[in-house]
Amino acid sequence: MIPGSSSGQAGGGTGGAGRGPIVGIDLGTTYSLVAVAGWPQPGVAPRVLEDESGRALCPSVVRYFQDRARPPLVGWPAREDPDPASAAWTVASAKRLMGRSLRDARSDAGALPFVVAEGPGQTARALLPDGRLVSPQEVAARVLGRLKEIAERALGVGVERAVVTVPAYFDDAQRQATRDAGALAGLEVVRIVAEPTAAALAYGLGLRAQADRAPRTVAVYDLGGGTFDASVLRLTPGGAGEDADAYQVLSTAGDTRLGGDDFDQALAGLLIERLRAAGVGLPEPIPPGARRALLRAAESCKIALSEHTVAIATVGLSGSYGGAPEGARTVAVRREEFEGVIAGLVERTLGSCGRALRDARRELAEQGISAVVLVGGSSRVPVVRARVEGLFGMRPYTALDPDRVVALGAAVQGAVLSGATRAALLLDVIPLSLGIESAGGAMAKIITRNQSVPARGVEMFSTQADNQTAVTINVLQGEREMARDCRSLGVFHLRGLPAMPAGIPQVRVTFDLDANGVLSVSAGELRSGVSLEVQVVPSHGLTRQEVARIERESVAMARQDMAEHRVTDLVANSRLDVGWVRRQLGRHGGALAAGVLRDLEDALGTVEGFIATAEGSPEGWRAVDPEAFYRAKLALDKLSVPLHEAAISATLREP
Ligand code: ADP
Ligand code: MG
Repeated sequence: MIPGSSSGQAGGGTGGAGRGPIVGIDLGTTYSLVAVAGWPQPGVAPRVLEDESGRALCPSVVRYFQDRARPPLVGWPAREDPDPASAAWTVASAKRLMGRSLRDARSDAGALPFVVAEGPGQTARALLPDGRLVSPQEVAARVLGRLKEIAERALGVGVERAVVTVPAYFDDAQRQATRDAGALAGLEVVRIVAEPTAAALAYGLGLRAQADRAPRTVAVYDLGGGTFDASVLRLTPGGAGEDADAYQVLSTAGDTRLGGDDFDQALAGLLIERLRAAGVGLPEPIPPGARRALLRAAESCKIALSEHTVAIATVGLSGSYGGAPEGARTVAVRREEFEGVIAGLVERTLGSCGRALRDARRELAEQGISAVVLVGGSSRVPVVRARVEGLFGMRPYTALDPDRVVALGAAVQGAVLSGATRAALLLDVIPLSLGIESAGGAMAKIITRNQSVPARGVEMFSTQADNQTAVTINVLQGEREMARDCRSLGVFHLRGLPAMPAGIPQVRVTFDLDANGVLSVSAGELRSGVSLEVQVVPSHGLTRQEVARIERESVAMARQDMAEHRVTDLVANSRLDVGWVRRQLGRHGGALAAGVLRDLEDALGTVEGFIATAEGSPEGWRAVDPEAFYRAKLALDKLSVPLHEAAISATLREP
């Protein structure tokens, strides 16, 4: 039993478990993923399943062969087929044709990398070089079949049922086509869920029974590679029943021709300008090979700029342009320059958000937006995040990987449908403490276990070494006293601190765990104003059984852990003291009486002895009596008072 965990309904039915899990599938335009939740036990958090090479994403790409007996390649092998003849036989982005007539799809057809033709019933199909017409359902079925295979291998059981996501604007024909694709792949599609709804579910926004039972409104901003969707959803909390909470899509707006690919185009434009200015004679129009190299360089540079404020684009140009030597050309791009070239595109997404908000106006009048969720790889671009935050006036949820959040939410829906109770997927109290790694590898708790959510905690930290310009923040979960015995939720770096002596910077670390269980960690250095904010979801990837085990271990290890934590902190703190005393002795030792000096040297030696033993002996910290170490450090503190005084009066005497 986990103290404070929610009532008797937890850990309830495993209904349907005999038939294998209901997996969640994000059937994407460019990539697809499969995830599972509540499996093998009801309380297990959602996780994405990986293929035999450890990859979560599966390209939604199928490569057919002239030889019809040869099974098509699906996923990575299809996308990476080196055969130059493969392009004409490869179908990608088939989702754009799903359930549509050729007439409807005509506007999209031009942008697709294969020939689109009309099939029976005016349907849009892919035309292969041998005249075969392939329906988008057939292509999707190949991808779903591959995901089924990935899930079965990862879980070791047969998988026959799935929740599959589709864009919120998909009509009945498009949804039916998606179900048909499932059936072709041997999967029963037990429910079709809108992508934004799945994203909200992944954060538990639809699962947490709200105390006031009031409806909540959630905005979802999904910026992928080639499409943008803004949606406004309303969650109506249900009763105590299992599947009673309901999401309703109030409005959607977007652009099926706007995404990260356009960011790449815009950045490639900037690269062309720079290369020409540097004397690289790129002809107009740019030859296809050079264009591909430019786009590839632009995408890597764009991704690097999500992390860094400046990045180098390396454009592999083969052939000599305008006499310039063959090979890679590099262009340095600052983040502001990139932001400048994509500003208009980002603005267009905000315009769509405005439209979605206006369309949902009537229902919004009562309560306004209560949460914003970011989805899609391109939502990682910092200026996109900032602009979305500005528009909605609140920090969006970014804790879950934007590539995976839709699949995770579909898995949550699958778990609910297979009988795992809502309560089993929820945490109303914090089951395990949250903190960060402090000097020497100890766990400094910031929010302690068993508090109810939301919860907040603040701690101050400083640097270990002189002129340290970065600190590492390892966010930890667990009850043990040492970081290595806790679970790391993520490692982040606060960079750009001004050089200061050790112990002088004041780093304030704030933990905010909100009602949905999303932890925002912010770290800021007070003098310089350098700061960082990140989000994580502590409950993800943990089962109730694991929580119980961690708890048991912490009790069993408590005494020993405390001693180690104490010695570790003593080593870190006294090392700073010893360093200072040694330096000051060199300068002002002469001003001290011989007896005082001797006592101080002795105390210093004792403390140094403890440090050396803790660090150098094979038993490590176990070789040290923490109480004796503590007393020695106190004695050193006391005996160094006259040295402090001598140092101060020397400073005052200086001209
Ligand atoms: P889709 O839903 O259209 O299949 P995704 O959600 O997978 O697309 O997003 C793919 C897009 O995200 C690509 O344009 C890719 O370049 C972009 N992307 C991925 N990671 C990052 C990143 N770290 N920074 C900026 N863009 C990124
Ligand atoms: Mg997507």
